[in-house]
Amino acid sequence: MKYRKLGNTDMDVSVLSYGASPLGSVFREVRIEDCIETVRTVLDGGINLLDVSPAYGETLAEKNLGISLKGIARDRYYLATKVGSYRPSADDYDYSAARTRQSVHDSLERLGTDYLDIVHCHDIEYADHNVIVEETLPALQALKEEGKLRYIGITGLPLKIFPSILDRVDKGVVSAILSFCRYELNDTALADMLPYLKEKEVGVINASPVGMGLLTERGAPDWHPASDEIKEGCRKAVEYCMERGESIAKLAVQFACAHPDIPTTLVGSANPENMRNNIAWVDEPINEELLAGVMEVLKPIHNNYFTRGRPEH
Ligand code: NAD
Repeated sequence: MKYRKLGNTDMDVSVLSYGASPLGSVFREVRIEDCIETVRTVLDGGINLLDVSPAYGETLAEKNLGISLKGIARDRYYLATKVGSYRPSADDYDYSAARTRQSVHDSLERLGTDYLDIVHCHDIEYADHNVIVEETLPALQALKEEGKLRYIGITGLPLKIFPSILDRVDKGVVSAILSFCRYELNDTALADMLPYLKEKEVGVINASPVGMGLLTERGAPDWHPASDEIKEGCRKAVEYCMERGESIAKLAVQFACAHPDIPTTLVGSANPENMRNNIAWVDEPINEELLAGVMEVLKPIHNNYFTRGRPEH
């Protein structure tokens, strides 16, 4: 496993990091034994950044991650969680200062720790950005001064939400951004934003290298927001790999982790075997011929992205 510095933080993060949303049964029902084994596999494989949110499985992912981390030395991993999104299926978003404080306290409890390395404002395309600047970020800064968290981040799907906040706050307030589905085989738009993010001294966390299932043989789950055109385009790339006896998930994970200016890419699974594979693949050389072929198949849908959130974002 290789490690890269996350922006201006003191964190050297593994190029592949672990997204714990599947521990909240968001893709399929999970058993606690699978959670425990997956988390052990992840840490033993050299992954040192774990990402979660109270929104994943309506706190189930945080609870299962907390149980899985019991007895493991706190300095073996960096822990990131989020505030603001609670039950996305019920439109439960609340970025107020009071809920932010309460949420961080509840997350600390569920995760069994007394500090968090990063707390992100989760999916701010659903937020009034005045509230983020005037309430959420100041509340998180106060918690930082109290030692409850070390760094603040923001996450979301449309890339334009990042400058919408970063252009309104001093450098150093937001230390990381988490972008997902915008640097993977079928969409590389995040790469165009890297110079801007570097200038803002923000560390970049990329997520969903297999496009939340789009670039897997199982395919995307029912709730996936991509259009049928994108799903169909990705399916063709999956079939292209299958016909050649190759794994598209492998290519997708290797592709996302290879960008030298994207310090880390979060991948999620509650299946230890998947995570063992993901970890092993990162250190193997990419199959350039297969990559060129897959990019050709994906050309008609390249950067043809899906969005969501408030109309103003
Ligand atoms: P992902 O692209 O990692 O896809 C996860 C799916 O791919 C799961 O069904 C998993 O079983 C499957 N998978 C993973 N490895 C595989 C393998 N080797 N072979 C076959 N299938 C495999 O998407 P994700 O889980 O949504 O994203 C990763 C993490 O990033 C999340 O868990 C979360 O922590 C974070 N994330 C955050 C946000 C946000 O903050 N708004 C959004 C998306 C993701």
